[in-house]
Order: sequence, then C-alpha cells, then structure tokens
Amino acid sequence: MTPPTVLTIAGSDSGAGAGIQADLKVFASLRLYGTSVVTATTAQNTRGVQDVFPMPGNVVAAQLTSVLDDMPPRAAKVGMLATAEAAAAVAAKARSGLLPNLVIDPVLESSSGRRLGVVSAIERLLPHATVITPNREEASALVGWPVDTPADMAGAAAQLASNGPRYVVVTGGDLVAGDDAVDAVWTEAGARFLHHPRIGTRNNHGTGCTFSAAIAARLALGDAVPEALVFAKEYVARALRGARDWNLGGGQGPLDH
Ligand code: PLP
Repeated sequence: MTPPTVLTIAGSDSGAGAGIQADLKVFASLRLYGTSVVTATTAQNTRGVQDVFPMPGNVVAAQLTSVLDDMPPRAAKVGMLATAEAAAAVAAKARSGLLPNLVIDPVLESSSGRRLGVVSAIERLLPHATVITPNREEASALVGWPVDTPADMAGAAAQLASNGPRYVVVTGGDLVAGDDAVDAVWTEAGARFLHHPRIGTRNNHGTGCTFSAAIAARLALGDAVPEALVFAKEYVARALRGARDWNLGGGQGPLDH
C-alpha cells in the first residue's frame, strides 16, 4: 500500500511546536506521507521566537522542484512565507498545476509577537488557493480593517473570497469572550460558522499550523473541503485536550498529535 503524499511549504520551528514540524506530525498521525519545503529556519522555543533566518528564493525553488518532480502531492499547504522571492517560486509551481488542493495559512506573526511573514507574499498566492485559514489578525491585515467580532470575521471571509480562494476560514480561537471557539467559513454557498467548546490551556502553540495541515491532509485523502474543515477543527480540539496538562518548556507549549 502506498500512502498518499501531502506537502508542507513552511518555516522550521526548532521547538517543534509549530511550522514544518507540527505539519509533519499531523501528516504522520493521519498515515499520510508528508514532504517538506523549508522557507525559513526559526530559532524558537515555548517562550517565543528568538531569531528568524529566511531561505533565499532559489533555495525554496530548488526544494520545490526536487519534491514535485518525484513525489507529486495530492494536496499542499503553505505556512510561513518570509520573502517575495519564496512566494514567486511557490506561485510558479501553482500556476503550472503542480500544487493541487492548496491550503494557505497566511502566517504573519507568532503569537509571541515576532514578524514571520509578509502580506505582499501571501497576496501573490491567494488566487491559487483552494482554502485560506487566516486568524483574526491575519484577516485584518489582508482586508485592511479591524476584525473583532464573529460578524466581522464573516465579512472578512467574504471579502477575501473575492481574491480567488474557494473557501475562506477566519479562525477565532483567540477571541477571549465566551466559552465557544468559533470560526467563520465562507463557501460558494454562503457564510457559516464552525463551533467547538473552548479548551483552555497555555499549551496552544502551533494551533494555526495544525489546523491548516489537517485540512490539507484530509483533502489529500479525498475529502471535500467542508468535511475537511470539520475534521480539522476536531483534530485541533483533540490535540489541545491531549496536551492540556503537559509541562514542556516555560512558555506556550505544543499540542499532542
Ligand atoms: N513558527 C513558525 C515557523 C510558524 O509557522 C508559526 C505559525 O504559523 C509560528 C511559529 C507561530 O505559532 P503560534 O502562533 O502558534 O505561536
């Protein structure tokens, strides 16, 4: 039996809570074969991001070519994109049809406040996306107005959908009000919300990466997007629950895959 392959194009997290490492854990836990293109190396732990080293565009392009020539993925996700050159390399492959079922997590900042990605790089890729999964702050940076409430999230999702992606999920897990972790989804059939009871834990580093990786994984397995979204939301909740009592590092710990 040959497992389906799924590709992550993202940054490395030395603490292995987010980025490439989180994505590969998701893929392995779902019995997919994950390949990886590293867009940046971060020096990082549970306390935050200490340093960021973007890969030159030709290094990103070379990794993409190696993987796509030999192990074509059924789905791919893009996380941290630190430079316009890296975005151009990814966009070129997407234009050639080599990145089907493309999920874009428009990473801009770590939750510890360190800049990781650039808006212009993300905008370049939006027309090629099947799904994009910004959190409220990322959605706000992309639409240009504050995204504070669930109604704002739905409005931002609709606006972002006009740039090309077929589905937009604005995640609201960081909204502090209430016991509900709510995400706004824009689909061709209109707007709806995904709900899950909030799981309170300091160990929530890498939730965005994990959510988008789980969506890409389920698309690679043949799910339609709405089913993949519901699956991914439940996957993140289970991973948060599993790590609730972990004591790894002095800060915001990782999830349990
Ligand atoms: N480091 C890398 C490489 C990432 O891709 C991301 C987010 O996507 C982060 C750090 C930030 O993760 P968090 O916001 O969960 O701390």
